Amino acid sequence: MGSQEVSTVDWQGKHVTVAGLGVSGIPAARALHERGALVTVVDDGDGERARAQAAELEEWAAAHSASGKGGITVRLGDGATLPESTELIVTAPGWKPDKPLFLAAAEAGVPVWGDVELAWRLRGPGAAPWLAVTGTNGKTTTVRMLASILEAAGLRTAAVGNIGVSLLDAVLGDEPYDVLAVELSSYQLHWAPSLRAHSAAVLNLAPDHLDWHGSMAGYAADKGRIYEGNSVACVYNVQDGATEDLVREADVVEGCRAIGFTLGTPGPSQLGVVDGILVDRAFVAGRHKQAQELAEVGDVNPPAPHNIANALAAAALARAFGVPPAAVRDGLRAFRPDAHRIEHVAETGGVTYIDDSKATNTHAAEASLAAYDSVVWIAGGLAKGATFDELVTGAAKRLRGVVLIGADRALIREALARHAPEVPVVDLDRTDTGAMSGAVREAARLARPGDTVLLAPACASMDMFANYNKRGEAFADAVRRLADESA
Ligand code: ADP
Repeated sequence: MGSQEVSTVDWQGKHVTVAGLGVSGIPAARALHERGALVTVVDDGDGERARAQAAELEEWAAAHSASGKGGITVRLGDGATLPESTELIVTAPGWKPDKPLFLAAAEAGVPVWGDVELAWRLRGPGAAPWLAVTGTNGKTTTVRMLASILEAAGLRTAAVGNIGVSLLDAVLGDEPYDVLAVELSSYQLHWAPSLRAHSAAVLNLAPDHLDWHGSMAGYAADKGRIYEGNSVACVYNVQDGATEDLVREADVVEGCRAIGFTLGTPGPSQLGVVDGILVDRAFVAGRHKQAQELAEVGDVNPPAPHNIANALAAAALARAFGVPPAAVRDGLRAFRPDAHRIEHVAETGGVTYIDDSKATNTHAAEASLAAYDSVVWIAGGLAKGATFDELVTGAAKRLRGVVLIGADRALIREALARHAPEVPVVDLDRTDTGAMSGAVREAARLARPGDTVLLAPACASMDMFANYNKRGEAFADAVRRLADESA
């Protein structure tokens, strides 16, 4: 299917099961209902909140059914059974592929779409093309940089997808876009078989979410789906060979180019860095001899190495879309990073406190630990199947001390014992709301003037916090209290 082709599904009377009553399920159910489908929403949960949401959704559907449109039924407490006569499942991206519901669907020959697939299929004629970004780390930053660059070029755009802005809303909303900057998670890609982006980037590939995908090969294959059917450019990381392998394996539109980005000097068909300047040797006439200056390293905020890589990937996608060099520079200058991503919280007693709560896996924590010389590291949480040997080995020299929190902290403690036995470790055996305060106090005790206390947990937060934002806020609050006390 070409990138401009749109869905011709006849939804009238079609039996669709929406798996998951949540942020993606509710808008999906509504959109399907409005097209005349008969929707059954299923969910494992049947708590108070789910019941209230279910009642609201059913009421809304009843009020909107008079004109012969379909209906919505919600089944709580049973997300495993395939409702009778289901012709299609639309699932929340996080639902694991080995759930009994999907096994039953496979047996019955029922297709399964995720939220991204649904948005892709429901977009209207002449819909905006998608510039898509995935990778283990840097997705949100890169997509927001990309949107900033596209805006600087005067294009109507939005940063959407896994970033927290519903693709369905963007695709079905009234606002017309010229192009969308789309962040896609590996889960979303798993459930998006017919997505065909204009151009796409895989920023990097390191083990993450392996418990969900079953294996590294499964995770990589799902990430690689982003390149399928690209029409203009497949953007890969020259310094991460696995991303280039995915380009090689992809089936793309004829004429689609492989474009690399590197922190080193770029070869032909690459973007890279020369003498502190971001340069383009891909989208220039005579690329074998010439390079186009895009921006200075200092235009990237913050100019940490991993973030310059993000900027180059964003620039590559924008250039693939025909954006002029000056807009790349202006867009990067206008970009401001989101909270909890290497965020400076305070300096007290000569020690700097940095919140990188968004470092939810080892690859991200590795990048942020590498940015500081002497670190007291606060880490731990849910490991999601990761191992910590490589991370700890690489960081050992920089560690003044470590404070461990959360459910899987023993995994990190054991890796430290194996590879950095001389580094002092405080193992905080508490998961109450005050635990982060305790962690910050212990970190402050270990730190010497000139050190950085870095929250870069290398783990997910859900064992102790609602999400990484709450974890970062708890850290920042504790740091500010500490600073007030010592003021
Ligand atoms: P994502 O959306 O993929 O989770 P973010 O842009 O939110 O990525 O960044 C998440 C964390 O990953 C950051 O806090 C930082 O620690 C780290 N990070 C960002 N970009 C990169 C990169 N290119 N390589 C490695 N780590 C990165």
